[in-house]
Amino acid sequence: MQRSFIFKGLRFRLALSYALFIAVLLTGFGFVLRGVLRGVIATTVQGLLDEEWAACKGFLRINPKGQLQWNYDPGDKEETAIVERLRLIYMIADEKGEVLESSEMYREIGFQSPAVITKVLADGKPSYTYHPNLRGQVFMVRQGTLSERGRRYFVALGRNFTPSEHVIEEFSVDYFTALPFIILVAAAIGWLLARRAMQPVTEVAAQVAKVSGSNLSLRVPLRGSRDELDHMIATFNGMVERLEKSFLQMRQFSTDVSHELRTPITVVRGQLEVALMTAKSEEDLRVAIEAALVDIDRLSQIVRALLNLAKAEGGQLPLQMQELDLASLVDEVMSELEIPALDRQVTLKRVLARTALISGDRIQIERLLYNLIDNGIKYTREDGFVEVRVSTDETAREIVLEIRDNGEGIAPEHLLHLFDRFYRVPVRESGREKGLGLGLSFVAWIVKAHSGEIQVSSEVGAGTTFRVTFPSKASETNNLVEYGNQRETTGRYSNS
Ligand code: ADP
Repeated sequence: MQRSFIFKGLRFRLALSYALFIAVLLTGFGFVLRGVLRGVIATTVQGLLDEEWAACKGFLRINPKGQLQWNYDPGDKEETAIVERLRLIYMIADEKGEVLESSEMYREIGFQSPAVITKVLADGKPSYTYHPNLRGQVFMVRQGTLSERGRRYFVALGRNFTPSEHVIEEFSVDYFTALPFIILVAAAIGWLLARRAMQPVTEVAAQVAKVSGSNLSLRVPLRGSRDELDHMIATFNGMVERLEKSFLQMRQFSTDVSHELRTPITVVRGQLEVALMTAKSEEDLRVAIEAALVDIDRLSQIVRALLNLAKAEGGQLPLQMQELDLASLVDEVMSELEIPALDRQVTLKRVLARTALISGDRIQIERLLYNLIDNGIKYTREDGFVEVRVSTDETAREIVLEIRDNGEGIAPEHLLHLFDRFYRVPVRESGREKGLGLGLSFVAWIVKAHSGEIQVSSEVGAGTTFRVTFPSKASETNNLVEYGNQRETTGRYSNS
C-alpha cells in the first residue's frame, strides 16, 4: 500500500514537473512570439511610411519664405489620391521648430516640441515614434528632414497603428486562452509518459519485494538496458549477496557453536550421571568430578575464545597501535614457547632482520605469533623443526613473517577452510592434542586489522609455511630496515 503510494507520488511529481515545464516554456514562447509579431508589423508600417516619405519628397516644394506647395496634377486621380493620403496625418516645421503646415489628425496627436525637432534636424537620420491621440488610437510617426534650397525642414508623417495593435492583441488573447488547454493536454501526456517511465521501476520493485530475509538466494535479473535502473539492480544484488553471505556465516556459526558446546556438555552430564549411579566411594566421585572439571575447563575456554573473536569481528576490540619491532617480538614469543617445543622435541630456528618495524597492537601481534608458532610446534612431527623468518621484501615496503615447519602438512582441500571458525583438519592419529579450531580465525582477523595479508602453502608429509606481510613502518619514514642484515640463531631443544 505504502509502496504503491510512493510510486503514485513519484508519477504525479514527474507529470507535474513536465506540465510545469511545458507551461513555462509555452508562456515564454508566447511572449517571444508576440514580440516578434509586433516587430514584423512595425517594420511593415515603417516600410509604408518610408514609401510615403519618398512620394512626399516628389510632390512637396517649399519656397524660401517657408510657403508650402504640393506639386501634382489635380486631374490625375491617382496623384490626387496619393497627395490626399500624404496630407491626412502630417506636419511640417522649420529649423526653429515653428509649424508651417499640419493636418487636423496630426494636431490631435500633438506636435513635437522644438527641442525634438532640432534634435531630428541635427541627427539628419529618420526616426520612428508612437503617439496616442485622445481617442485612444495609436499612431506611428516617421520624423525626417527635407532639404529645400539650402534650408532644412522637419517633416513628420503618421499612420494609424491601432489596427496593427488589434492584430497583436487578438493573437495574444487567442494564444493565452488556448494555453491552459494545451497545458492540460501536456499534463495528460506527461501522466501517461510518467507511467511508462515508472513501469520498469514498478516491475523491479515487485521483484525486489520477493527477496526477503528467508529468500536471500534470489537475485533481481538485470534488464540489459545498462541504464541507471540496471545499475541500481546490480547494486541491490551485490548488497543481497553480501547479506546472504553474512546470514549463512551467522547460521554456520550458531550451528558450529551449538555443536562445539553440546559435545562437552553431553560428556560432562554423562560422566556425572554415571558417577551418581555407580560411584561406590568418595574417591570414585572425586575422579568423576575431576574429569568433568577438565571438560568444563574446555567449555569455558571455547566460550572465552568465541567471545573474544566475536568482539574482535564486531569491532569492539579497540587496537592500541604503536611502533613495534616484529623481530624482537618474535624473539620474545619464541623464548616463551621453548618449553612446549622442548616437550615435543621440536627445534626452533629463527632468522630475523635486525629491526622490522611495524605499526601494531602489541597484545594482538603477540597472540598472532603465539598461535602460528604454537601450531607449528603442535602439528610438526617429533624431531621436526619450526623456522621463523622476519625480513623486509625487496621494495622495503613490507615486513614479511614466515613460519615454516616440516610437519605433517595440510591437504589442499583443507587449506581453503583453514581460517574458518572451528575448522580442524580431521586427524588420523588419535591422542593428538585437540584444538578449538578458532586460533587461525583470530589470526586472520588480526592480520586484516593490521592491513596485512596471510597466505599458507603446504605439502602433505613435507610441512607447512604461513606467510604474513605487514606494511613496514620504516618505509613511511625512512628505510631503516636493511635488507639482508639478518641475525641468525638456531637452537635445538630436546629432553635428552
Ligand atoms: P587449533 O589449532 O586450535 O585446532 P587453528 O585454527 O589454529 O585451531 O588451526 C586449525 C587447523 O589447522 C588445526 O586443527 C590443524 O588441523 C590445522 N593446522 C594449523 N596449523 C598447522 C600446521 N602448521 N601444520 C599442519 N596443520 C595445521
